Amino acid sequence: IAGIGVANMKVSVIGTGYVGLVSGVSLADIGHDVTCIDINERKVSLMSKGKSPFYEPGLEPLMKKNIVSGRLHFTTEIQKGLLNADIVIIAVGTPMKDDGSADISQIKQVSLQIAESIVKDTIIIIKSTVPVGTNELIRDIIFSNLSHNVEFSVVSNPEFLREGSAVYDTYHGDRIIIGSDNYRVAECVATMYKPLGMNILITDIRSAEMIKYASNAFLATKISFINEISNLCERLGANIEEVALGMGTDKRIGHEFLNAGIGYGGSCFPKDTNALVQVSDQVGYNFELLKGVIRVNQRQQKLLLHKLKHRFGSLKGKRIAVLGLSFKPNTDDMREAASIIITDKLIEQGAEVVVYDPKAMKNAVQWLNPKVNYGISIKETIRETDIALILTEWDVFKELDLSIFVELMNSPIVFDGRNCFTLDEAMEAGIEYHSVGRPVIN
Ligand code: NAD
Repeated sequence: IAGIGVANMKVSVIGTGYVGLVSGVSLADIGHDVTCIDINERKVSLMSKGKSPFYEPGLEPLMKKNIVSGRLHFTTEIQKGLLNADIVIIAVGTPMKDDGSADISQIKQVSLQIAESIVKDTIIIIKSTVPVGTNELIRDIIFSNLSHNVEFSVVSNPEFLREGSAVYDTYHGDRIIIGSDNYRVAECVATMYKPLGMNILITDIRSAEMIKYASNAFLATKISFINEISNLCERLGANIEEVALGMGTDKRIGHEFLNAGIGYGGSCFPKDTNALVQVSDQVGYNFELLKGVIRVNQRQQKLLLHKLKHRFGSLKGKRIAVLGLSFKPNTDDMREAASIIITDKLIEQGAEVVVYDPKAMKNAVQWLNPKVNYGISIKETIRETDIALILTEWDVFKELDLSIFVELMNSPIVFDGRNCFTLDEAMEAGIEYHSVGRPVIN
């Protein structure tokens, strides 16, 4: 493709969720001229003022800096936003359909708009997570709908950033994967990312698509595996923290993703594991291991409910504080968070539920049972409650002085789904403490 491969490129990013916005902002920061496009007018109006539509550490200062430098622009008009783009990055959502497969309708819609809008040779990157074969499908859709006589190439470039540390990950990630059937095009994309100084792996399109699913499936497997071991530890009198430390010290295993808890949530692991199972079924392959990983996670999300049943029998009339709502710390993302199902079941069982989260309260209102009450601080949330649950390991919870549970609760009984405290801390504070994969303190 002519004219591409210079250091400062004109890049358009379509879809400004966690992936699109963070990618767009960081590409502007390393010198490219970036236009971020989204159909959501409220988001675009916020972003134009340097405000992020979601909570992500470090993002807003970087947005403001690059808006001021004149390298970062926002628009709702796709045609205007794509004008003269060398590279177009698709980062719209690929949510889970009812049957578990990935819904690629947003990508299809955007690709039609790209086909109508591009007036010069363009590289089109699919950054959204898409099933193997989607890049080729999108290439065909664009080819059959081109309005102008231009050349284009579709490149798979899956994203690996983590919500909560998305900005950090964009600059310090482990690798950038570029899947292309044209080495020169792949090199152009590598040139765009070069200032980030990260490892770049160039491969074929289908392998690139598969690397993303295989990586998420493997991480989900690690989580479900350690959770299975933690359930065994509870029954056999071992301590999962000790076991995970001993396992993780083996370099082949590693310490990361060995934290036992109430399972994974979020917008990626649940949907991507289900999509891979669907894709496997479609080609007649029974991915038994991954099906087990998904089942284990569904069960693990309900672990605290089983522990409560075992301890109390009925929860009718109990006042229960829930600390932590987002699916993990440092994000306000509520998608597939364990808090949704847990609070729902507590209310179903007749409990009175009051919740608190440092960042996700505003989003939570759209996801939680309307009977949930919202606390204004940690202390006010646990005050005069009978039971406290911890569902997300925010630092503000981990740093709590446990004596507040004794001082403020009707009875200091804590069910910790994320092992935020040591057993010694719980014992010293004099609370009744139920955690995951470790003995009960009472
Ligand atoms: P998101 O749902 O937060 O954002 C998607 C954005 O696309 C929304 O702002 C929406 O308004 C916009 N959009 C939808 N249709 C559009 C259209 N026709 N034109 C313009 N904009 C449109 O999504 P996300 O969490 O950023 O994820 C995007 C993709 O990246 C998904 O495929 C996801 O699996 C993948 N991914 C996500 C993460 C993560 O941590 N969130 C990490 C790696 C990969």
